[in-house]
Amino acid sequence: MSALDSTPQADWRRLAADLAAGPDLVRVAQPLADLTTFRIGGPAGAVCPVENAAAARRFLEFAHGHGLPWTCLGGGSNILADDAGYAGLVLVVRTRQLEVAGDAIRVGAGWDFDTLIVETLRRGLTGLEFASGIPGTVGGALVGNAGCYGREISEFLREATVLRADGRQEIVGPDDFAFEYRSSALKGRGDVVLDLVLALARGDPAAAGEVRAARLADRRAKHPCNLPCAGSYFKNLPPARAGEHRRPAGRLLEAAGAKSMREGGAAVFAKHANIIVNIGGATSGDVLRLAARMKQAVRDRFGEELSEEVLHLATPAASQGPAVD
Ligand SMILES: Cc1cc2nc3c(=O)[nH]c(=O)nc-3n(C[C@H](O)[C@H](O)[C@H](O)COP(=O)(O)OP(=O)(O)OC[C@H]3O[C@@H](n4cnc5c(N)ncnc54)[C@H](O)[C@@H]3O)c2cc1C
Repeated sequence: MSALDSTPQADWRRLAADLAAGPDLVRVAQPLADLTTFRIGGPAGAVCPVENAAAARRFLEFAHGHGLPWTCLGGGSNILADDAGYAGLVLVVRTRQLEVAGDAIRVGAGWDFDTLIVETLRRGLTGLEFASGIPGTVGGALVGNAGCYGREISEFLREATVLRADGRQEIVGPDDFAFEYRSSALKGRGDVVLDLVLALARGDPAAAGEVRAARLADRRAKHPCNLPCAGSYFKNLPPARAGEHRRPAGRLLEAAGAKSMREGGAAVFAKHANIIVNIGGATSGDVLRLAARMKQAVRDRFGEELSEEVLHLATPAASQGPAVD
């Protein structure tokens, strides 16, 4: 029996009360398919939406106090959750304050990133429009250094409030994140970003609006609009030569014949060879088998090794700490 199975109902009720969330908000055995854009994944032990720093601290105390594994999710748009679910606690970041100070904004990490872009443009603040249409939260975007069209959210970070896995709250600058392409030191480390300050500019809102419209149209044309997915499955490859752009994984995958591949309910998207779509009833096993075939095809054809951008969320072997690989 796991620590989770033996957690008495009274403790779940106390967790709900401690988080001031209401027992109905702390959901026991909620399918992760409900919390991820792939719509795949078995039940999580308990799912706790957290709206402020105090609730996040109490969540960590509860998890540590009961020796339960835990992890944190934003919009679940970069996650493949395992069919077996996650035998632990899932903190869902819902911090949503917004303050404007000059050209900078302090925002809760739980803001939907695209809604935030609309909100900044409405206030005459430009910069983020390049990222229009990226799903998920702004906190998730920061931790994964989300980007597109050669830009990344890390370019705008001034500071962030982070709750360390041991319960310490700190304000950190960009150096602490050690940003890389689609990654940061915080990814999978077990720190929770509560809020962040982004430095924007008083630019031309009409021009920014045009960029936004173009980006959204591009996404509508190239991305699956009606099929569940988690965006690009693999990272683009490093540039062939210094100073050049990264090499799109989708191009190699297409040349290696990936577009015709399918495993059970998971298939490679017809318009973009680096996107796996759930065409109905896909399991995490289907997706993992398909991804392995895609990688092998690129290895065989080009001798290149793709690495996953989408994170596989599964119960960790050890019983503590974050749980994405
Ligand atoms: C159709 C589609 C298009 C996409 N296009 C793009 C694109 O153009 N560019 C791009 O970069 N990505 C893209 N993505 C992938 C995804 O949307 C981004 O990676 C997004 O920023 C993830 O945010 P999230 O809140 O959903 O994070 P989640 O998927 O919930 O979590 C991702 C990781 O971040 C961690 N995390 C989330 N929130 C926090 C927090 N507050 N504190 C600490 N850790 C946290 C999680 O623990 C996990 O390790 C796309 C996805 C889809 C479905």
